[in-house]
Amino acid sequence: MRIAIIGAGVAGLSCAHELERYGINPVVFEDLDFIGDREPHITASLNVADRPVADVIAYYEKVCHLRITPLNTVKKLTHYSPSKRTVIENGNFGYFFKRGKDEDSLKRQIHAQLANTQIIFGAKPDYKALAAEYDFVVVADGRPDITKELGCWTDLIGGWVKGAIVEDAFNIHELIMWIDRRYNKNGYVYLCPFDTHKASLLLFVPSVQCNELNYYWDQFLKIANINYRIVETFFVHHLSGVVQPHRMGNIFFAGNAAGAISPFLGFGQLNSISMGVFVAQSIIEGSDYEALLKPILEKEAAFYEIRKAFNTLSNREFDRLVCAIGLPGIKQLIYNTNINVVKYSAKLLKLANALRGGKKGS
Ligand SMILES: Cc1cc2nc3c(=O)[nH]c(=O)nc-3n(C[C@H](O)[C@H](O)[C@H](O)COP(=O)(O)OP(=O)(O)OC[C@H]3O[C@@H](n4cnc5c(N)ncnc54)[C@H](O)[C@@H]3O)c2cc1C
Repeated sequence: MRIAIIGAGVAGLSCAHELERYGINPVVFEDLDFIGDREPHITASLNVADRPVADVIAYYEKVCHLRITPLNTVKKLTHYSPSKRTVIENGNFGYFFKRGKDEDSLKRQIHAQLANTQIIFGAKPDYKALAAEYDFVVVADGRPDITKELGCWTDLIGGWVKGAIVEDAFNIHELIMWIDRRYNKNGYVYLCPFDTHKASLLLFVPSVQCNELNYYWDQFLKIANINYRIVETFFVHHLSGVVQPHRMGNIFFAGNAAGAISPFLGFGQLNSISMGVFVAQSIIEGSDYEALLKPILEKEAAFYEIRKAFNTLSNREFDRLVCAIGLPGIKQLIYNTNINVVKYSAKLLKLANALRGGKKGS
């Protein structure tokens, strides 16, 4: 069986790895001339967002058959709103992963587990030509372009990210997050450390153009009183969307190209790796790809309910939210149980909306 994969990202490489397990050696076409990400940064995986997956590293090994070593564990979460701060510590809240070109970066870790996959670098193939030439094509190029062209993509939330490498003194286990309408509208800023003196800082502002981002960035530095030494900066377009269907004929979509980016906090790694593996299983075993994706789609639909509610909050409500997550009972529920708080919060929000709609109508 001949399978072409477009994109040597986390989805494409995970798909190749799973195919190899079934004895198929795919061909991967990668635009760049290396495995990795252009911009070095740190990504996070938070247990609370991953549920029902309890531990993402164990999940990668058991379900995705990949051995992944995170950079660090997340043991401290610091949340800032305009005038409040809540610190949650002494727990296992998730993991940090290195992105970029280093040997221990996520893509290179997955790539190192491939044995026979051919990777063609500097290649931007035409997916239609590949679909005619190969038995199956997996679109895993990290972009919505092809799914948009095929009419399968609906936008959910878009905007721009300004990322930076910063230097100061950091706790390698601490993730810091800021929410404040003055500098991120209803987006967010978060900091994830590389090590004790270097960190990755990302500001996401929804519904803005790239050239507006420096204004928000300067506001953030001023209002949040940030004095880190900024070593380098970069800009990335961010778009979260829903894809339906996830397969057209012999073309499958995986990763960001298939709507893997979560509409709430922009997390997409776990979804992308899972999608890559599920495409391979679906092709080889003939199983229904949509059925395999169901848990991911339900999780992201729940996150979208939370996103819609979050979009309506004022700065005063951001303060209340940040205080609330530090209250003992709520903190315990969110961080120290395996209860799927995302799913149940979304259900409550939907119910509240329905009741509000009912009241308006009566
Ligand atoms: C700055 C930033 C921070 C993030 N933080 C987090 C986080 O904290 N937690 C989290 O879970 N997720 C995070 N994400 C999202 C996560 O990284 C993505 O969801 C995930 O990497 C998507 O995987 P992918 O394989 O679909 O795409 P990618 O990993 O982007 O890989 C796509 C590959 O396709 C290649 N390509 C592109 N076009 C073509 C083409 N035409 N032909 C051939 N190859 C092509 C690209 O060069 C790339 O190698 C972040 C993303 C960014 C950009």
